[in-house]
Amino acid sequence: MSVKTNLLSNVLNSIVEEKVEIVDLTQTLNEDTPVIQLPPPFKNTGGFKFMPLSEYDENGPVCYWNDFVAGEHCGTHFDAPIHWISGKDGDSVDTMPVKNMIGEACVIDITKKAEVNPDYCLTVSDIKEFEEKHGKISSHSFVLVHAGWDKYNDDHEKYFNVGEDGHPHTPGVSQEASIFLIEERDILGIGVETVGTDAGIAGTFDPPFPNHHYMHKANKYGIAQLANVDKLPARGAVLIVNPLKIERGSGSPLRVLALVEKQ
Ligand code: MN
Repeated sequence: MSVKTNLLSNVLNSIVEEKVEIVDLTQTLNEDTPVIQLPPPFKNTGGFKFMPLSEYDENGPVCYWNDFVAGEHCGTHFDAPIHWISGKDGDSVDTMPVKNMIGEACVIDITKKAEVNPDYCLTVSDIKEFEEKHGKISSHSFVLVHAGWDKYNDDHEKYFNVGEDGHPHTPGVSQEASIFLIEERDILGIGVETVGTDAGIAGTFDPPFPNHHYMHKANKYGIAQLANVDKLPARGAVLIVNPLKIERGSGSPLRVLALVEKQ
């Protein structure tokens, strides 16, 4: 490549020369992809369905292609503010500023706590402990809660972890932590490895699903069903989160990429 000193050339050269690694944080989307199971009276999403058109056959001798039907909230996906009643006047995927689709990933590790207690919710003290080690979370950040849950992506029983009480038992974010990250840190949003950005039992909380309630009320975002979060450093990865531009879409399946500087 020609010698250039501008910013974007430096980024591109770093990618080409593999000084910057691109990490794929996306689950493979197929008909087995787990989708959130909400209790009554909620209607549930149908997930992902493939409908073949042709595969070099009589329906299209030279081409392979398919239609698909997908819930806005299936697989690795985005939650727009308008997804929640508290954010109903906020952005949908087509109106959100594109600048907010790229931000720093701040990865808070709660794997040990979630292993002991699958209902564990990120606390303000977890955030402060993270900041003592890694510095203050900046405003143009996505906070990724690394609970170790993506290791269950192919095991629906463990992924949903439904208990004898009929509730899924999966980790989430405490109400206090959501409010702290909104009011004190003004982050872009929260990312998780589970089917939703609240704990499995958060339907029983007051308000129900508090992270959805507060984040979306503040016109902030959610990212669910992330993979490979363990491949990111605690700070400094650049996250690219670009939902489909569905008119008035409440969310969208995503291909989430992170740019990680190699040490
Ligand atoms: Mn969702």
